[in-house]
Amino acid sequence: MTPEEFRRAGHQLIDWIADYRQSLAEQPVRAQVEPGQVHAAMPPCPEAPQTMDELLGLLDTVVLPGITQVQHPMHYGWFPSNASLASVLGDIACSGLGTLGISWESCPALTEVEEVVCEWLRDLTGLSPEWQGTIHDTASSACFVAMLVAREKASQLSKSAGGLQSLPAALRVYGTDEVHSSIDKAVQMSGIGQANLVKVATDPVTRAMDSTALSRAIADDRAAGFVPSCVVVNLGSTGVTAFDPVSEIADICALEGVWLHADAAMAGSAMLLPEMRQRFVGIERTDSISWNPHKWMGTILDCSLFYVRDVDFLRQVLATSPSYLQSDADGRVTQYRDWGIPLGRRFRALKLWFHLALDGPEAIRDRLRRDLDNARWLAEQINAAPDWECLSPVTLQTLAVRHNPGGELEGDALDDHTLRWVRAINDAGRAFLTPSQLDGRWMVRVSIGVESTEREHVAALWELMQDAAHV
Ligand SMILES: *Cc1c(COP(=O)(O)O)cnc(C)c1O
Repeated sequence: MTPEEFRRAGHQLIDWIADYRQSLAEQPVRAQVEPGQVHAAMPPCPEAPQTMDELLGLLDTVVLPGITQVQHPMHYGWFPSNASLASVLGDIACSGLGTLGISWESCPALTEVEEVVCEWLRDLTGLSPEWQGTIHDTASSACFVAMLVAREKASQLSKSAGGLQSLPAALRVYGTDEVHSSIDKAVQMSGIGQANLVKVATDPVTRAMDSTALSRAIADDRAAGFVPSCVVVNLGSTGVTAFDPVSEIADICALEGVWLHADAAMAGSAMLLPEMRQRFVGIERTDSISWNPHKWMGTILDCSLFYVRDVDFLRQVLATSPSYLQSDADGRVTQYRDWGIPLGRRFRALKLWFHLALDGPEAIRDRLRRDLDNARWLAEQINAAPDWECLSPVTLQTLAVRHNPGGELEGDALDDHTLRWVRAINDAGRAFLTPSQLDGRWMVRVSIGVESTEREHVAALWELMQDAAHV
């Protein structure tokens, strides 16, 4: 494809995307396809070039039916996965430039723009200049890196010797039942092993970690010959948006010399709001922080921020310096390959830059405040309605909800009722909600925060919920 052909096809694509974004609210929220349907609808691999018109036609007929519309104003599933159009333009710029990020020298701008936007986000979220950041694809990768760094800290860089296999005692990691599955994965993949992830007790109402129980678990482990290596705090857990008491936990970690990682993947966006920062008090005293602009804040996936204070140690864990990547600039520049797993990286900073530059932090903050307000409004309706309840405090924009007609259902019968009404809504395609378990029983998560979701949409959802639950 020549640049001139690209210009024509690119204009067509941009028009197609704009039309799609304008009309997506007319689509069912959840994809209504059966497994294998998209696969079967795909054409054979073309031998001769197709036209852009043909290809866009296939996006309409094959791809669109197979999309769960997470940009739909009635999407309340999982978490907001906003893809602001300003950030889409930055993503296109990244692709169009076709840069290679394997060293500072391979694209100085990629490295230095990333440094700057990480500083911008650090300042916008109220973190001190002690933190330095990088952009990972996802929080799962960032949490995995945090786990590796914690492992190496606790094992005096065992990676350069016999690794975990040479340690005399097992390393332990601490979190609550609320930790994200990516933490389980990080513990498993870092060689620490699931059996060494200690689940610390939580407050029965807030689901926040009980810091006294953490102290006790660490003391018991030391007495039994284990080596405590890492505590993962939830700052906005996936299930019920629980916030662990990070200040108290930081005291314990400082005393014990244990790495403290803050997983704020979803809730980190709230740090953009000064009035919400009281939930994060103490985050400054952690060792590493990860959060996802690609969720609520709305920079298109993939864009996960990872901040550390001790960059030297991070580099000791992850640096490589093969001869073909060495240059005269070494020692004077950032080599982001030493901050994570991949060698080659995309120019992801552009989408954050475009998002901040074209939408502006003020508008982003206004939108987050609107969503918090909508969540409070819905919680008020639910708590005032007979037979409905919010099962945990609404700390941010996600509600954990249950309906129990006449308060008469229990156990499996209540589970059946919950799953029936949420499936009725999801199958009809008018809204999408995620059923999830709390203490082994089903409830429904209502996660508010799609860019296009206004109060009228939340009110429409509340009507749908009542209709679905009352038949
Ligand atoms: C979404 C989420 C993750 C995982 O995020 P990815 O970027 O999809 O890997 C981890 N922790 C929490 C609390 C989350 O909400």
